[in-house]
Amino acid sequence: MQIDQLNTWRKDSKKPFVMAGPCSAESEEQLFETSKALYESGISVLRAGVWKPRTRPNTFEGIGVDALKWIQNIKQELGPDVQFGVEVATPQHVEESLKHGIDILWVGARTSVNPFAVQDIADSLKGVDVPVLIKNPINPDLALWIGAIERIYQAGIKKVGAIHRGFSSHKKSKFRNIPSWQIPLELKREIPEMPLICDPSHIAGNSDFIYDISQKAMDLNYDGLIIESHRDPKNAWSDAKQQVTPAHLTEILSQLKVRDPKS
Ligand code: PEP
Ligand code: MN
Repeated sequence: MQIDQLNTWRKDSKKPFVMAGPCSAESEEQLFETSKALYESGISVLRAGVWKPRTRPNTFEGIGVDALKWIQNIKQELGPDVQFGVEVATPQHVEESLKHGIDILWVGARTSVNPFAVQDIADSLKGVDVPVLIKNPINPDLALWIGAIERIYQAGIKKVGAIHRGFSSHKKSKFRNIPSWQIPLELKREIPEMPLICDPSHIAGNSDFIYDISQKAMDLNYDGLIIESHRDPKNAWSDAKQQVTPAHLTEILSQLKVRDPKS
């Protein structure tokens, strides 16, 4: 499935759009091995965190521009149908990503919460034709999420999608981020033409729940999934508990029951 079909994919196919890859690019070898395994299992839209907005300081904050060079090499190695998405939080990230041929950009949950930051990103996207996905802000504020989406649309971006990754809560919960499914569904009612993608990895915070959350998203007629996958999740440098191996991801996807989007 090509991301070019971003606004139409569910009309054409009974399969959800799937984007997968590690939370963070850690080394060229880790990224290559993970990407190759995903590609061989049929996933050609890959993700990798290059700049990581970590909650606490003195933790791994991403490789930066060197990882964009690894991505360029991996795309050359794997083939022309491979597309990569990365998170951008500043105009500099946008500029570097586009310079290195990144195919899809996404705005993370710690950035979509800040209208100034989103506007700076939107301004840097003027005249650019690249798909942009906007994660919900960490707090359960639908208007803030819609506002971030509007800023990107108003920059002239045509392929815009939303990612539901759950919401922070101080309450104890089974999940890392509470899903509050009614919020993304309300978003879908407000902007029905915009694809809605579920990020079960950041909702779950635990690889055991990826299947159930993905199935729930399919039951609710989401258009796609973005799932973190790492060749060796236990030793991942970020989000180790929630990542699944490429083989595990293949098994999860093969068991999903997907509704016909027209029904
Ligand atoms: C990520 O996708 O790795 C990430 C940092 O996600 P979020 O912005 O949803 O926390
Ligand atoms: Mn992550």
